Amino acid sequence: MKAVEIAKELIRFDTSGPPTQEQPCAEWIKDFLDDVGFETTLQVVEHGRANVVGKIGEDTVPGLVLSGHIDVVLAGNPDLWGIAGPFDPVVKDGRLYGRGACDMKGPDACMLQVAQDLAKEDFKRQLTLAFTAGEDTGGWFVNNVLDDELVTSTEAQYCVIGEPSLMEIIPVHKGSGGADIMFHGRAAHSSKPELGINANQKAADFLYELRALQEELDKEQHPLLGSTTVECTMMDGGFKANIIPDQAKLTINYRLIPAHKDPEVSKGWFTSIIDKLSKKDPDFKAELTRHSASNPLDIPLDSEIVTTLKSILGTKPVGAPYYTEAVSYTSAGIPAVICGPGSIDQAHTPDEYISLEQLDLGYKTYKELVNRTCL
Ligand SMILES: [Zn+2]
Repeated sequence: MKAVEIAKELIRFDTSGPPTQEQPCAEWIKDFLDDVGFETTLQVVEHGRANVVGKIGEDTVPGLVLSGHIDVVLAGNPDLWGIAGPFDPVVKDGRLYGRGACDMKGPDACMLQVAQDLAKEDFKRQLTLAFTAGEDTGGWFVNNVLDDELVTSTEAQYCVIGEPSLMEIIPVHKGSGGADIMFHGRAAHSSKPELGINANQKAADFLYELRALQEELDKEQHPLLGSTTVECTMMDGGFKANIIPDQAKLTINYRLIPAHKDPEVSKGWFTSIIDKLSKKDPDFKAELTRHSASNPLDIPLDSEIVTTLKSILGTKPVGAPYYTEAVSYTSAGIPAVICGPGSIDQAHTPDEYISLEQLDLGYKTYKELVNRTCL
């Protein structure tokens, strides 16, 4: 079966959500891998939701993981789908249309065709295929695969995630995180503002300092990722037009370069702004009520997986601003890079598509990668 035909089969399963049901699609993949000779495991993680892992060349030297997700984002307004139904794939003008064509049932299909075409070869290193649930639709069930040791660093040295990157090699991406800052003031009638303390105004003072923080952060440039960005994405303060607000909340979202991956670093930015403003202004009262920071992806550019992909594709690695499952694999001791066919620009859109040219490049690249690393 060719990747385009495999992709069509996968797209016909409605794995959109939330709520999401990946299990029937995972079972189809399991049957496919069973038929070509892989050892497979279906891991049901929730009612109707499942991961599937297939291995070949077990008990050999640690090898390669090819990984993708099988859930897709909701199709949205059906009237906006003009060329194909979201789950009724169509090939037209050199493109395969359907929900998930590029993100990422097309890339998954390239991996499955490679599995089918190479299964009869003599594997000197283990090849693992892992297809996971809940990447785009909530759950992040790749962690179940790793926590339950269905894929381990003793079996796999490297992982390639087929997220659509137009086959660009992405060994680094930013980490992400969020924080909430709560500001406390004193309520008063707005005709007597001198009797109150305006929490919205205090939040504005904080925002002003946040802009200064960004200017500082911009001085530290990662060669592939640029600088860490810190943005206030939500603000909430006050409840009535004629009352001085006694409470306000800012929600901050940030994207971290590897130099800022220690959670204490980002925490320190916000607490030191609060300290600075409290010292300057006795009425300034604020606290950090939520803080999180997830690791960036930071695979050395001279690692074997990056240099092998570079020599196959003849391209230089690039950075990405978005967050992926590669961090989960890397944290489990399996360095992971992103390299997949299709463009992220077509992901999550009506009439989502992948070009047949990209599908072919994905298939050929993964095949050569398996050739060089496992055979
Ligand atoms: Zn994706």
